[in-house]
Amino acid sequence: MKILFAAAEIFPFAKSGGLADMAYALPRAYEQLGHKTTALMPLYAFIDRDQYQIRSLHRSLTLNFGGKSYDVKLYACRYRNLDLLFLYHPILCDRPRLYGPPGGAYPDNDLRFAIFSHALVSLLREGSFDLLHLNDWHCALAALLAKEARSDTPIVYTIHNLAYQGVFPAESLERCGIGREHFRMEELEFYGQVNWMKAGIYWADAITTVSPSYAREILTPEFGCALEGFLRVHRKKLRGILNGIDYEIFDPSSDPALPSLYDSHNPRGKMQCKAAYLREIGMNERENLPLFIFIGRFVEQKGIHWIAEAMEKIAALPLSLAILGDGSESFDRHLAQRVRCAANVHLSFGYDESLSHRMYAAADFLLMPSTFEACGLNQMIAMRYGTIPIVHRVGGLRDTVHPPGSGVCGEGIGFDGHGPDAVVAALQTALELYRDDARLEALRRFDMECDFSIERCAREYLRLFASLDRNLPAEGNKASLR
Ligand code: ADP
Repeated sequence: MKILFAAAEIFPFAKSGGLADMAYALPRAYEQLGHKTTALMPLYAFIDRDQYQIRSLHRSLTLNFGGKSYDVKLYACRYRNLDLLFLYHPILCDRPRLYGPPGGAYPDNDLRFAIFSHALVSLLREGSFDLLHLNDWHCALAALLAKEARSDTPIVYTIHNLAYQGVFPAESLERCGIGREHFRMEELEFYGQVNWMKAGIYWADAITTVSPSYAREILTPEFGCALEGFLRVHRKKLRGILNGIDYEIFDPSSDPALPSLYDSHNPRGKMQCKAAYLREIGMNERENLPLFIFIGRFVEQKGIHWIAEAMEKIAALPLSLAILGDGSESFDRHLAQRVRCAANVHLSFGYDESLSHRMYAAADFLLMPSTFEACGLNQMIAMRYGTIPIVHRVGGLRDTVHPPGSGVCGEGIGFDGHGPDAVVAALQTALELYRDDARLEALRRFDMECDFSIERCAREYLRLFASLDRNLPAEGNKASLR
């Protein structure tokens, strides 16, 4: 099968969250399972072309839409056995950040990603691809444009987070080259505006989201972000496929970011990682206390506001908590102020891949009180590093974290309540577990050995692809990733 995979961010070139991890791991897994895959993304100005040996193909695509002409240049590289194609146009790419300043969005994101979608379809038309895999709202318009161009390549559209739908004023249609006939409730119209995610849902041959529970939740008003009715209309095309992680990137026995390596049979290195990290943040006298971490975007979705509200109670607990991430300027200020009263809490602002790995390795527990979570990768990464997840039982967190002793792959502490008190109660449950050395060690080892691999996930996608076209083999040459 020849697959074209498109996403707005792909690790390590550009990453704001789990989409980039998946957009790196999935195409690589398709490729390793025997399917020729090309991954496509914008060549943002901040990407170091020399570092990744990204070369110009000395070709461009001329796109004519909205009464204007756009010349999109093509670049390529091969990274860890994956072929990547990059699209460069100054409007799409010449920005300091991916989508906008922290907590905000660039006002012309509609045009930026329309350029991406038009260029993508132009490539689809000239290549002989068997399958187009589109991800999130950024390339959703490509589903509509491909069908309009009478492409018969089956399209799978994956929703990684329904909260970000690409909603723009109705005038966007014209400047983005989309016909006015699509401005109807059954298609792109959304409370007087246009909603690009609706184009993906409407036009794709199959829709997936990243966990079975989230696939059910998004059909309800509580989690449907006002698209639940629309999704119910298209529910026959919808299914949940649980994400996975790339064990070449997330592996404590070979991770170059760690001061000490370890695995489930030889876990001593984890204690050394904890000691080194506590020294790094000036908390070296707290080695005997459990270390909790929170890593993620500071948005309400991640439950960071509950942690902020619980700060005084957390300050009184016999634990250390390290937080990494950033959000809007005002929330960052608010959080910093809350942390000031808690001597046992350390706060790092920013996005730091290597630091996040050191934290996963150092911690005893990962705190993930998300209000909703399509899948969540942090808890799977944490388990690989022997760090017990504490999660709010929603979406993919429900599918990956089960009660200790259940014997189901992935065990940790789950809670159902809402708000800061529910977080504090979960922390107290974790403190009890921490006092029971034997139980804690057994749980750690169990989680480290669970299979949340991207290979399992990719095989499920490939079965779906094959079902869309009976002539396609489901599992390539059945090569193993390991
Ligand atoms: P999201 O909703 O943000 O996509 P996921 O749990 O799916 O959340 O994926 C988050 C990914 O981003 C994980 O690889 C996590 O380690 C990483 N990450 C999130 N915030 C940061 C940060 N501030 N620094 C480093 N890595 C981060």
